[in-house]
Amino acid sequence: MNFSADTFKQHFPLFAQSENRELVYLDNAATTQTPACVIEAISDFYRHANANTHRSSHRLARRATAMVEKVRGDAARFLGAASTREIIFTRGATEGLNLLAHSLCSRLDPGDEILLTTAEHHANLVPWQMQAASRGLHLRFVPHEGGVPQFHRIGEVLSERTRVVSVTAGSNALGFRTDLPALRAALSGYELQWVLDGTQLAVHDEVDVAAIGCDFFVCSAHKFYGPTGIGLVFGREARLQELPPWQGGGEMIASVDLLASEYAGLPHRFEAGTSSLASIAGLGTCIDFLARQDRVGMAMHEQSLVHALHRGLAPIPGLNLLSRSEHNLGIVSFTHSRCAAIDLAQWLDGRDIAVRVGHHCAQPLLRAAGHAATLRASVAAYNTREDIDRFVAAVEEFLSHLDADDAVSVPEVSVQVVGAQDWSPDDLSSLDVAALRSRNSWQDRYRTLMSWARVISRKEAVRNESNLVRGCESSAWLVHRCERGVHRFAIDSDSRIVKGLGALLLALIDGKKAADISRAQVLGVFAELGLEQQLSESRSNGFRALLDRALELAGA
Ligand code: PMP
Repeated sequence: MNFSADTFKQHFPLFAQSENRELVYLDNAATTQTPACVIEAISDFYRHANANTHRSSHRLARRATAMVEKVRGDAARFLGAASTREIIFTRGATEGLNLLAHSLCSRLDPGDEILLTTAEHHANLVPWQMQAASRGLHLRFVPHEGGVPQFHRIGEVLSERTRVVSVTAGSNALGFRTDLPALRAALSGYELQWVLDGTQLAVHDEVDVAAIGCDFFVCSAHKFYGPTGIGLVFGREARLQELPPWQGGGEMIASVDLLASEYAGLPHRFEAGTSSLASIAGLGTCIDFLARQDRVGMAMHEQSLVHALHRGLAPIPGLNLLSRSEHNLGIVSFTHSRCAAIDLAQWLDGRDIAVRVGHHCAQPLLRAAGHAATLRASVAAYNTREDIDRFVAAVEEFLSHLDADDAVSVPEVSVQVVGAQDWSPDDLSSLDVAALRSRNSWQDRYRTLMSWARVISRKEAVRNESNLVRGCESSAWLVHRCERGVHRFAIDSDSRIVKGLGALLLALIDGKKAADISRAQVLGVFAELGLEQQLSESRSNGFRALLDRALELAGA
């Protein structure tokens, strides 16, 4: 293999900044980094060529127009489209999918069916739901096992009313790829339109829409080293010709009268208003940049990283790998039986390792797989084996701290109020705020807070919508009562660090009279402990949300 990740990484100035020298960036499925040439192309556009396209009689406008149409040609080649009439610029994949849902569904009759899968990103689900609700269409889903579509059973749900099949080329949450040749074969012979959400595919494969056989293909440039704010829709010309535009405005018309308008031809009919011109310039340069790379070598390297991740994580006790090495889109996803994914991600962030936690905009898939959130590490070609080793070592280190914390002094509460109609305040007597203050390093304070989580019992009775505190990154519930002027509180959360922070909050305010509860004092301790700097902004906001709810409940 000739591809060198180290050499490739040198194209990306973000990694050369002093603050990022230690960064391990494993959030590539959300957004990839941008090479210098793309950044320069965007800056160049504003320096030398900034003007609106079309309809202008000056040199800059002509130059901008020529640039946009050149990039359209580059994009057509990038995707394997037959002509530039088949390429529409959008703000991103989400806008592309909304465009297609809107335009395709406007041609359907009530009772017609749209076939999706449980593995779709919300961007390929919600737009169809909106259309189905307003037009009386039916959404159907490919049979699945634990959320994973079983395409070999697609025949069970295809019917003579199926008009559109819109599926992802692979899961952005769990990493599995869709077997596109098999899907093509399964759909052949049906009179329907096939939309492929290729958002996660375009960075890993050299896309050829003709070989794939889909009618429409959607992707976002920021997922393949391009800028944000620009995406592509490919549509087979004959299909696009049949579709009405979805947004009205300038650029998409041939002529306008007061009561009706004549629309422009392909593809401008689908591009109302001013496009993201600087991003289009960046996209063009990005496509050139990719054309100069060893795409096969990049893909092999990415695959070897995915294998290394799975090999490193699989033996870890309690770790539940939800992705598999084979047929994978560079994504590793897992949970752990003893910690919330968000706690681990926070720890990794402290080690300057960037990953993502949550439902990854694929709630139906995660729900079907039996999880609310996973930790996702996603690779790009600039990631190195060292990145993977540091990531796996940091996961192991975090878990070994959990083991050590479980062995030390703070006793885990044994009585759990499971299913009770009422709640009792937890015993906070072992929490020593002064001792927490005296810990020298942030890591020590963090570990102490994690161990404090164990005084917070699980309280089924309080886990409901009315006790939920908005603003917390992971679910947190807070309850209160007043006993002869003394305010009592209890909290619960799935996250250990949220419980630890909640325990700190309660150590400062529980069992006090309203006059003795001070917002300034709590925030003072929070700042003094350095939590403000060390916790993510959303975690700090979560702490403040808990505090504000507590003060509100106590009328303090
Ligand atoms: N589809 C998939 C499979 C995705 O992964 C994403 C982004 N995570 C989208 C659609 C939406 O892309 P964007 O946010 O760039 O519009």
